Amino acid sequence: KAKAIATPTRTKEILQKYGFSFKKSLGQNFLIDVNILENIVQHAGIDDQSGAIEIGPGIGALTEQLARHADRVVAFEIDQRLVPILDDTLAAYDNVSVVNQDILKADVRNVIEQHFEHGQSLKVVANLPYYITTPILMKLLMERLPVENITVMIQKEVADRMAAEPNTKSYGSLSIAVQYYTEAKVVMNVPKTVFMPQPNVDSSVLQLKLRDEPPVIVEDEEFFFEVVQATFGQRRKTLMNNLSRHLKGKIDKAELRAKLEAAGIDPGRRGESLSMEEFAALANAIYEA
Ligand code: SAM
Repeated sequence: KAKAIATPTRTKEILQKYGFSFKKSLGQNFLIDVNILENIVQHAGIDDQSGAIEIGPGIGALTEQLARHADRVVAFEIDQRLVPILDDTLAAYDNVSVVNQDILKADVRNVIEQHFEHGQSLKVVANLPYYITTPILMKLLMERLPVENITVMIQKEVADRMAAEPNTKSYGSLSIAVQYYTEAKVVMNVPKTVFMPQPNVDSSVLQLKLRDEPPVIVEDEEFFFEVVQATFGQRRKTLMNNLSRHLKGKIDKAELRAKLEAAGIDPGRRGESLSMEEFAALANAIYEA
């Protein structure tokens, strides 16, 4: 059996063979620990029926582990220099396709239709480029792709925010945005030493299980997210303060106060204490006004 790509020696060999230099601007920090990768693949629930979608395969460290366990793997990689390298490092696997596209611009739904069976269980697995973690995840969620779960290595601080519960330091509009679409959980914290080169920040593996239905019913999704954002606007201010500022000219203070009270929400509370259900009640009450 060939030596795994994700070892320090093999990684260095590959980089040297191709004279590859890391592009910091593309968030290139490659994984050099096979145990971590096997753990990620396990958490993702990849089996021989699964289709795996990877974002940013690099030189193929994770791609290889996915190819070994999944039915098929499709990997989006923006860096053209990596395409011939992946051709070489993944030559032993006939179930991998590399798509040389920017994930933020790609028509992911179309790529899915081209590469996977209709109704196949699909999972996104990636060690994401950290400079665009949130745009990538929000794109995947808002497009409502036919994906079962998303298991990603990201910056620890961002993972904590996405999975945060009310009344915690990390809780904010990003927690609501992500948890509206998914059940979010941090499944692993990962030391910097498993990357080459080592990043400046700590990392975690975040698991998102996509919901079939949103957890709350909102009259208007856009307005709901607008209210959430406004409520967290200035964290030290009350929700009444933040909201009346945001809705100035659209609804007067007395009416807003009445709406909040009708929705059973004390105007003196802070955004960070509100649950998703309370945000929904709040947004729906104001929307009707
Ligand atoms: N999966 C590899 C690993 O774990 O060793 C590499 C992970 S590295 C953190 C992130 C990868 O994403 C790099 O290969 C980088 O070139 C790629 N990347 C950066 N921006 C991208 C984008 N917009 N679309 C697709 N891939 C991107």
